[in-house]
Amino acid sequence: MTFRAGDVVLHRPSGEKWTLACDEERAEVICCGWPESYAKAADCTLLRAATDEDRLVTLLLVAKGPRDHYRRGVAVQQLAREPHPLCSICVDTSCDPLGKATRRAGDVPLCDRHLADALDGARARLREAQSTVERLENAQPIAPEPST
Ligand SMILES: [Zn+2]
Repeated sequence: MTFRAGDVVLHRPSGEKWTLACDEERAEVICCGWPESYAKAADCTLLRAATDEDRLVTLLLVAKGPRDHYRRGVAVQQLAREPHPLCSICVDTSCDPLGKATRRAGDVPLCDRHLADALDGARARLREAQSTVERLENAQPIAPEPST
């Protein structure tokens, strides 16, 4: 049993209570607070286990954190390894922070709703581009001004 993001643990050497920012990796844990603190997993005792939802929400929040936080990169990698990816638009707009992706468009996991939205948007842009092409292809010569 390894620790997971969102777990609340007692870090025994400091006596501090930590909420973990990421899943345990290489027998180490990272806490959510500042400064970023790392510890050996073996130095921690589980106080409250995160639910699956707590864990995902924690990873998502950490993954959206400042770029100079080491834990951000760890959370991003851990989310990428999730067997069931989250919809990238749901996550981005927080419309459903746990929106499950059903399909992958290239590298982008999308839920059904956002896939349909993205497809509609792309089709509309394509129609617009087609009408621009037609207008340009049908450009008419302008007769020079008659000289007086
Ligand atoms: Zn979505």
